[in-house]
Amino acid sequence: MSVNILFAAPDFRWEEYREALPPALRAAGIEARLARDIQPAMVDYIVYAPGGPVEDFSVFPRARAVLSLWAGVESIVDNETLTQPLTRMVDAGLREGMVEYVTGHVLRYHLGMDSHIVNPMHDWIFDPPPLARQRRVSVLGLGALGAACAQALAALNFDVAGWSCRPREIEGITCLSGDEGFGAALERAEILVLLLPLTAQTEDLIDAEALARLPRGARLINPGRGALIDDDALLDALGSGQLAHATLDVFREEPLPAEHPFWHSEKITVTPHVASETRAETASALIAENIRRSEAGEELLHLVDRDAGY
Ligand code: NAP
Repeated sequence: MSVNILFAAPDFRWEEYREALPPALRAAGIEARLARDIQPAMVDYIVYAPGGPVEDFSVFPRARAVLSLWAGVESIVDNETLTQPLTRMVDAGLREGMVEYVTGHVLRYHLGMDSHIVNPMHDWIFDPPPLARQRRVSVLGLGALGAACAQALAALNFDVAGWSCRPREIEGITCLSGDEGFGAALERAEILVLLLPLTAQTEDLIDAEALARLPRGARLINPGRGALIDDDALLDALGSGQLAHATLDVFREEPLPAEHPFWHSEKITVTPHVASETRAETASALIAENIRRSEAGEELLHLVDRDAGY
């Protein structure tokens, strides 16, 4: 039997998925019609990304799952019209990209690259960095992305701790959890990496109090979500020197408005939500596999816990 798959992501994504999804579906043994425009009553599956055409999921009575192209699902998880199972994206390409972004920016801070790259007076700055094994990095969030980044940093010899909701065990990483673990992760973090999802529990988690617990002169890298951080507290911490520098990839409002103070601080590097991108080829394999599972009555991969919000 053929299934109808509605592609409900912004238009510019269509070209790559129109190419990548059909072969992935065929490989999974799924006969399907994939389109951007299908009568709602006929839709069996919805491939979803924020900013697309669908906001009301109640008009799809036959839809058996909503398959997010994004890892972060904060824009859809509280949608009351959504009664179908929701899956999030866990994709090898997404993971690889995030590992590259995080290790690149950690190495920038660790090696003090800026002082050599931006050195207009040609000063001979003899200030060798410590070895990575002497540099403490904390990664908040030890999920698909955080754990991979923590392990990549540990493989470069960084002294890495990670923090998650539930206790975890990851080889080579000091795993922390709960309130006590949060404080311990902050207090050791010369470089702090945020890879938490945005939920009611994590919004504004990095506030003035949290920033004050970091070692003075710490650096922060946020490829998680903008609203994990209290923006004003961040600017205050940078102003006082409590935080030496921040690299921010995600913001409360995107694109970041031209007048936003983050663009105008020497102590902030803005990257335009490019830390990592779902790659159509590998992501299509997950979508096809989940449709196959659903049709076979098997449990879906990477189901979102609607109560937890991720
Ligand atoms: P994930 O697999 O769901 O992992 C989330 C991690 O955060 C888990 O370790 C989870 O703990 C932990 N966590 C959640 N709530 C917590 C809380 N209240 N206290 C402590 N730990 C908590 O997510 P992921 O795939 O790694 O993605 C993480 C986030 O990265 C996404 O939600 C998205 O916002 C962001 N992202 C950004 C980009 C970009 O380009 N900038 C790209 C992709 C994703 P447990 O392990 O105990 O569940």
